[in-house]
Amino acid sequence: MLLAKLREAWICLKAGRVTLPYPFAPHDPAEGFRGKITLDPDLCFGCGGCANVCPAGVIVVNDTGQHTRLLEFFWRRCTYCGRCEEVCPEGAITLSQQFETATDKPEDMYMRLEVFMGPCQRCGRCFTPPTPLERMMLTGFRNGNGGRA
Ligand code: SF4
Ligand code: SF4
Repeated sequence: MLLAKLREAWICLKAGRVTLPYPFAPHDPAEGFRGKITLDPDLCFGCGGCANVCPAGVIVVNDTGQHTRLLEFFWRRCTYCGRCEEVCPEGAITLSQQFETATDKPEDMYMRLEVFMGPCQRCGRCFTPPTPLERMMLTGFRNGNGGRA
């Protein structure tokens, strides 16, 4: 019995330290880690593909006017599945390496993007306006950081 315990202790000691020093030292997630979603408002053109595939209902799309589409991200529901990143044709939405997301402010878990949807005067179909500034207005997601996570 004692011998078995000693052998067990020896095996454990031989293995050395197996835990990470985090949170006392920074921790870099492994490659491919799926963390907090980030959105590039310069690339998003409001197609709504990400909202269509999101299984958690994080992304809600509404046309708020003839020329504007509102994308809302209720990010607290996110399961980090990565489907939105997979389907976005512009690479506008990505899952970052950020994992420290605890907050006591509900507004930190919300993001909104207003996309200008310019319709053609002849056919009525939407087209992408020439500059990013013309197609978006962004507020929210960590006050004052321009909406970038
Ligand atoms: S990672 Fe998954 S759950 Fe989170 S917003 Fe994208 S599709 Fe939705
Ligand atoms: S983030 Fe990508 S998939 Fe979602 S609305 Fe914008 S362009 Fe479309």
